[in-house]
Amino acid sequence: MEMRCEGCAGCCLDWRPVSPSPADHERRGPRPPLDDAYNLVPLGRDEVRTFLDAGLGDALTPRLWAAASPAEAVTVDGVDVAGVNGRPAFVVGLRSVRKPVAPFGLDRTWLDACVFLDPETLRCRIHGGDRYPDACATYPGRNLELNQETECERVESAVGGVRLLDDDVPADLPPPLFGPQALGSRLFLHPDPGRLTGVVERVARGTPTAADRAEFVGVAAGSSPGTVAVNEARAARARERAVDGASWVSEAIEFWTERAGDSGTRVDPSAGWADVEASLGAPETEGW
Ligand code: SF4
Ligand code: SF4
Repeated sequence: MEMRCEGCAGCCLDWRPVSPSPADHERRGPRPPLDDAYNLVPLGRDEVRTFLDAGLGDALTPRLWAAASPAEAVTVDGVDVAGVNGRPAFVVGLRSVRKPVAPFGLDRTWLDACVFLDPETLRCRIHGGDRYPDACATYPGRNLELNQETECERVESAVGGVRLLDDDVPADLPPPLFGPQALGSRLFLHPDPGRLTGVVERVARGTPTAADRAEFVGVAAGSSPGTVAVNEARAARARERAVDGASWVSEAIEFWTERAGDSGTRVDPSAGWADVEASLGAPETEGW
């Protein structure tokens, strides 16, 4: 597997607003996500803990899905959420925020981007480090294994050029997101839907609060692989750390949110925001 990623970042962005044929590959099945994020990066339980240990709990956000049938539905805030035995199912991923980016040779444009994407270099701020998610390190290996279209190929189709240089499936793929082996390690079940009143509605509107996000981060951190058990003491500690943690990520999200235009609109070329994230404490990236 080999890709030409320079100047791309297609898998770190929601570039649907600038695509001639926007794909919505995350919403084709019977359980569409409640949120509208594109290319959400799902994290494993141990990765969630690593982000918390690094004081980056504010970079994490949950994803829940609409139920495919009444049998699996857990109704919260009037929404039928997919679950198992009355427990809403969720993953924890990385937050995104609208940034001024210039992928694929475009003029600088406001697009929703992973919080860790450097909008200047289009490189990942945590690439190769101990917080670099498995899902990113092995992308698009799972797609290649399942013979599903990759984001690299979507970019090729939309804007031309060759991005996917070699489609060999890597040997070290992380376990799949779904299936029994994922329970408690990548796919989590919330033990008490009563705690989610009001939360599900805000998640569906794309406006979860820090406490809402921390509720799910806590359960994920307190989960046990292969079981539905949640260590409540550990979950409570993780919840607290997630709420209290306010890293450069929160400051960057606040900065961009105050200034961003509509998604897909041009950025004022005189804005001069090149070093903003670094000045807030974000790790630097190198050029290509
Ligand atoms: S979409 Fe493919 S080519 Fe583009 S940055 Fe992601 S992995 Fe690299
Ligand atoms: S963590 Fe890095 S590689 Fe993964 S989506 Fe975010 S910016 Fe892209």
